[in-house]
Amino acid sequence: MYCDEVVPGFDVSFSFFRKVFVTNFNIGFGSPRQDVCSTCLQLSERIKVEKDAAEKVRIMTELRIHKLRAKAFFKLLQKEENHEILLSFDCQKNLPLPKIPDQSVYYSRQLYFYNFTIVKGSSHNTLNKDNVFTYTWTEEVAAKGSNEICSAVIHCLNNLDVTNKEKIRLMADGCAGQNKNSILLGATMNWLYSAPRNIKSLEIIFPVTGHSFLPADRVFAITEKRIRKMETILKPEEYMNILQEHATIFCLGKDVPISDYKTQSQNILKSTQSFHFQITKCKRFIITRKGNQVQIRGEISYHSDTGVDKSITRRGKSFQTFNPETLPIGIPVKEAKLVDVRKLLEVHFGENWASLSELQY
Ligand SMILES: [Zn+2]
Repeated sequence: MYCDEVVPGFDVSFSFFRKVFVTNFNIGFGSPRQDVCSTCLQLSERIKVEKDAAEKVRIMTELRIHKLRAKAFFKLLQKEENHEILLSFDCQKNLPLPKIPDQSVYYSRQLYFYNFTIVKGSSHNTLNKDNVFTYTWTEEVAAKGSNEICSAVIHCLNNLDVTNKEKIRLMADGCAGQNKNSILLGATMNWLYSAPRNIKSLEIIFPVTGHSFLPADRVFAITEKRIRKMETILKPEEYMNILQEHATIFCLGKDVPISDYKTQSQNILKSTQSFHFQITKCKRFIITRKGNQVQIRGEISYHSDTGVDKSITRRGKSFQTFNPETLPIGIPVKEAKLVDVRKLLEVHFGENWASLSELQY
C-alpha cells in the first residue's frame, strides 16, 4: 500500500518498511478487550466528560485508589511464604451438554457441567496435576452453591501436607452466593478448630470486584481453547478428559461427598447482622485460635489491621458440635430443560438417539 502511494523512486522493500514501521513509530496493536471492570470503565468515562475541575480530581483519585486496591490483591497472590500454604479458587463458566455444532443450541436450554478449581501456590507457579485440583459435577447431581464449594475447599484442606506450616491463606473470587458468606467462614473456622496445632491461622482474601483474575482462570483459558476445537461433546467424561490434562480431578458427590455446611453454620454461628464486622465490606477475614476457641476478624483493607478478634458462635454453641451431614445426591432438572435437550439430540442424531453407542453411559 505504501509503495503504491509514494512518489516513484521512494518505494522500499518490505523488510525496510517493516524496520522503520516497528522502530520509528509509537503504534501498538491489540485485540479488543472483553473483560473490562465496570467500575474502571464508568470512572474513566466520567473523567472524560467532567467539566468541574475539583470533581474531576476527585473521580481521578477514586479511580487511582480502586486500581491500587486491585493491585494489592494481586501482590498478595504473587507470593507464598515458607510457613504458609496459599490456595486460590474459582468456578469456571458452566459448560454445556450436549455441545453440538447446531445453531439451535443458541435457543435451547442445555445441561450444565460444573468445574470448581483450586490452585495451590502463588500465581508464579507452573500449573500441573500436583497443584491444580478440579472438582466437577453436573447439574442433576447437585447445585452450584456454598455447600458444594465448601465441601471441595474442606476436602482440599484435609488433604494438604501441613507439616511445619503455620498459616493457610485462601484467595477467592468474591461471589456472595458461593464464596463470600458466613457458610464458608463457618466451614473454615471449624476446619481450623480441629486442624493440627501447628496451624495458627487461616486467612480468606477477596479481590476488588472486577479484578479477580486468579490462577484457576489460567487453567480455564487453556481448557476452553481445547473445548472450542471440539465439535461435539456429549458426555461429562469428555470434559473431564480435557480437564485432567492439567489437573487432578475429583467428582463431587462421588469421590468427595457434599456436606451440609449451610445448616451447621446457621446452627452454630450468630446471624451475620450481629457479627462485629460487615461481610460485604471486608476484603480479608482472619481466623485464629485462642485456647479452645476459634476467633475471627474482618478487615476492610488489604494491609492495615484494625479489626478485633472475637468469637462469632451463638451463646452456648461451640465448634465441638459442628458436624455437617452428608447430603443426598441428585436434584430434579426442570422439565422444560429436558425437553430442549431431547429435542437437540433428536435434531442432531435422529429419533433413535437414545440407542446410539456414543450416547451410552
Ligand atoms: Zn476496576
